[in-house]
Amino acid sequence: MENSLKIIPLGGMGTVTKNMYLYEYDDEILIVDCGIGFPDPTMLGVDVLIPDTAYLQDKKDKIVGMVLTHAHDDHIGGLPYILPQLGTHYPIYGSKLTLAFAQDRLSEFDIPANFKELDDSPINIGHFIVDNVKITHSVPDARHLVIKTPASSVYHGSDFKLDFNPIDGVRPDLSKVAASGREGITLALIDSLNSEIKEFSRSESSLTPMFASEMRDIKGKVIVTVMSSNIHRIQQIVNVASRYDRQVAFVGRSIEQNVKTATKIGFLKLPGNVISRKKIKNHKDHQLCIIIAGSQGQIGSSLSRAAEGDHAQVQIKPSDKVIFASEPIPGNEQNVYAAIDSIARIGADLTYSDIVDNVHVSGHSSAIEQKLLLELIKPREIIPIGGTYHHMIQFRQNARELGYQDRNIHLLDNGQVLSVNRDKAWISQTLDLKNVMVDGLGIGDVGHIVLRDRQRMAEDGILIVVVPVEQQTGQVRGEIEIISRGFVYMKHSEKLIQEIKQNAIESLGNNTQVVIDWQTIRRKIEASVETQIYEITQRQPLILTVILEV
Ligand SMILES: [Zn+2]
Repeated sequence: MENSLKIIPLGGMGTVTKNMYLYEYDDEILIVDCGIGFPDPTMLGVDVLIPDTAYLQDKKDKIVGMVLTHAHDDHIGGLPYILPQLGTHYPIYGSKLTLAFAQDRLSEFDIPANFKELDDSPINIGHFIVDNVKITHSVPDARHLVIKTPASSVYHGSDFKLDFNPIDGVRPDLSKVAASGREGITLALIDSLNSEIKEFSRSESSLTPMFASEMRDIKGKVIVTVMSSNIHRIQQIVNVASRYDRQVAFVGRSIEQNVKTATKIGFLKLPGNVISRKKIKNHKDHQLCIIIAGSQGQIGSSLSRAAEGDHAQVQIKPSDKVIFASEPIPGNEQNVYAAIDSIARIGADLTYSDIVDNVHVSGHSSAIEQKLLLELIKPREIIPIGGTYHHMIQFRQNARELGYQDRNIHLLDNGQVLSVNRDKAWISQTLDLKNVMVDGLGIGDVGHIVLRDRQRMAEDGILIVVVPVEQQTGQVRGEIEIISRGFVYMKHSEKLIQEIKQNAIESLGNNTQVVIDWQTIRRKIEASVETQIYEITQRQPLILTVILEV
């Protein structure tokens, strides 16, 4: 029997999102989380990123189970893309709400899965004994995990905060955390995202008085945008709206679906004041509170469309108030402020975190809560997770203050395998992980060349050279045609187009010859035209040569 446990982060290190961790022990693999990441602005047309699971391709039969820590998409959103690759022959564990949201993700793709709900007792998954700890976060029903093997015991401290006044009354189970510490934890993975923040995080329930004072004297509609998984925030808005005799309508696919699911399993309690979005028009503005999706300013979201005056059911008026009960995720600022600007132009009253600082509370623990958790667990080794590199560095600084030595604090990259046994922990291997991008229905078929092409099309447009070739003889017949989109306006650039055409004809050489090697000809035309266009215009449109059989 092997005497070390391997911990393999496939995502979640340095990237915040795309969380997926493997625990490998004695020929068995346990997976924790299966999240998506979000593309950066250079990844044009890419919908989501998923962890690279190539390491598992020839080890599928070793997978004994998966455990999901909470219902955020960067922890469960990868399921519809990953399960078809890894198979569904093993059980997937999670809390009630986490599994319900995971089921919604899979239902869209009609993928079956063997879900098993966690209860309060430890479970055996192969050689792994996995216990779960109730914890608080910005989505209800979140869990930390205690994973035990003969080699070592690990505390998997995924996203959390310590909220002692949670909306559902389910407080973090600190006595269970402490008990795990007394039994002995070799290594702890801890959410490090807010390691730079010193003050204890504020309770989610502190938002109720804020919503009340924001809604109190509004003459028109109250429109609130919020992360669609933040069920407890939605609960507070619904409760306050009810207090002010406002009917609540949910608008936007993600919010409507999450509200429906959370209500069905009892995590959201809707009083009598809920109407369907189609009934909005039957009510006066001062009787309405609309909870709308699109808090990150996503283009095409319900909020963005309403802000542009382009939503069938939600028209924003100057007498309305729009509340952003969220904060832009880094990278989304531009879209969020574009939405805020559009609403400001309409003249509606606005509340957002730059001008009202208690309109949002973080779902993550600050340095003080992280330290508290470490003091209870007292692990020998630590891995900060869920943050970018500077968060991990600050986390290490905080851990030093508790007496930890740098050799016991492991700042890992995705793909760095940490082996741990009864005596020590060391990096035993580094996997070469690729960026796997999901583009519409295709998985992993978009490489950097495709992205570079999209980048060039976005910046300088596209130019297509159509070369007509006679089918029977393979000879060039007729005139070469130039088509441009987003590069130059053809009518005003006749001279330039003529020059490009001439250049293409010349790079064909003797165009009466029979052309067989089209790849070479194509490359020659593209290279020659590209140089020419750059010299004349300093632009680099994407150039395509199309051989058209006539
Ligand atoms: Zn989370």
